[in-house]
Amino acid sequence: MTKKILLIDDSKTQLLSLKMIISKAGYEVITAPNAIEGIELAYHNMPDLIISDIVMPSINGYQLCRLLKNDPATKHIPIILLTILEGKIDKFWGLKAGADKFFNKESEPEELIKEIELILSKVEDKPQKTPIKNVTFTENAYHVKINEILDQSLIESTIINEFRNLSEFIHDESTLVKEISTIVESILDFDTAAVFFNSADNKKLKKVTFLSNLDEKSLKQMASEFANTVFETTESNDINYEIINLKEAQTQPPYKTKLIMPIKLESEIIGAIGLYSHKEINYQNQKTFEIILNEIKLLMQIKHLHSKTKLLTVIDPLTTLYNRRYYQEVIEREFSRSRRYSFDLSVAMFDIDNFKKLNDTYGHQFGDEVLKTVSQIIIASLRNTDFAFRYGGEEILAVLTNSSSNQAFIPIERIRAKIENYPFNYSGENIKVTISAGISELKKEISTAQNLAKVADDALYEAKHSGKNKVIIAKQ
Ligand code: GH3
Ligand code: MG
Ligand code: MG
Repeated sequence: MTKKILLIDDSKTQLLSLKMIISKAGYEVITAPNAIEGIELAYHNMPDLIISDIVMPSINGYQLCRLLKNDPATKHIPIILLTILEGKIDKFWGLKAGADKFFNKESEPEELIKEIELILSKVEDKPQKTPIKNVTFTENAYHVKINEILDQSLIESTIINEFRNLSEFIHDESTLVKEISTIVESILDFDTAAVFFNSADNKKLKKVTFLSNLDEKSLKQMASEFANTVFETTESNDINYEIINLKEAQTQPPYKTKLIMPIKLESEIIGAIGLYSHKEINYQNQKTFEIILNEIKLLMQIKHLHSKTKLLTVIDPLTTLYNRRYYQEVIEREFSRSRRYSFDLSVAMFDIDNFKKLNDTYGHQFGDEVLKTVSQIIIASLRNTDFAFRYGGEEILAVLTNSSSNQAFIPIERIRAKIENYPFNYSGENIKVTISAGISELKKEISTAQNLAKVADDALYEAKHSGKNKVIIAKQ
């Protein structure tokens, strides 16, 4: 079928000469002397391609592009803008307006035909769109429409700009969350919102911030519902939530609208947001929602990447245990948390028995393999809320949260037995490896976090000197 091309140019001679060239190449050509008539012809004829001048009185080529590319009925029609302009900014603006291609008026006519062929070959042979006959806008109506379109894109770029400015708070989660909610609150209508940034370190307490003024009980319920939806589990014990009072007192749940959206990067959950309202609101249908979501996702992505990088700096590469530097940070935090809430806290210090001899007999490399396996056994035997660190060469320290030393003894003794029974193997030979451990616990008289490790180390010394391969609780 002959392809139909609409040609728009305010210069009569230009219009005629182009029409001749294009018709000669076998296309059906319709022409318009200005953008307004051009737009009408576009609706009435649904051409396969539009070629338009840029500089025209009243409505110019960019504006014509915006009008047609913003209407689902005409946005599929490719547009070539004719230009004599050399400036890059004109092309930039033309592309932003939706133009598919530029053609320099001074180029050879054959070049134009090549461009037309190329562009038409890319367009799928879809069933022809039905022409729309009843559009006759006035010039004024077009200008109103153009303004609306520009307004919308100004809103969008303003929102994007506001979010992009937040990347300076990427290291300060609470400010970041507050700033995000301030923007979202000025755009979307909600009674409560939740924001959650996931860390790459899954030992980190997951912290969900709720922006609301609800009672404790409702919030607990919402936090666990939020966590269950995001992580698709029913186990939400390690979800810690923080409440920020950004909003005036609201009525309590139940809500008519509950939108809980996990935000993923590939298959990893990098964060989530929640929006709650007493009204029936379809957030996803709102024009700005996609932009907001996209920007929040971008921030979550940056933050997640940052936490991944941070994680690499606290992990010991050989054993994948946390390193000693990170121990200082964790023990200070857990120490003051346990003090504040009167939680129990224990520390266990492990040391491999006769490791020097093992190295001397089977080589350092085999020693490394043993150390790796011992570390893996320890990691696998502790709870998700516990931490294990490579404290020294072959000394491993575990921090057991919410555990007295008597409670800690159970998993530590289990670890000792597992290692004793583990079939270490050196070229077919079964090698027996054992460890000793000392346990200390948080007591009133232990005034600093550092003392915990010291007391555990003393208990370890006792274990070593009373025969090794045993676990001893410090007498404190
Ligand atoms: P004890 O039962 O009293 O602990 O005896 P030990 O031989 O284990 O004595 P000690 O703990 O003092 O010695 C630790 C040895 O562990 C010395 C060192 O060569 C070895 N070691 C430390 N770090 C590593 C490591 O990363 N890889 C290997 N293969 N060996 C290590
Ligand atoms: Mg040692
Ligand atoms: Mg040792």
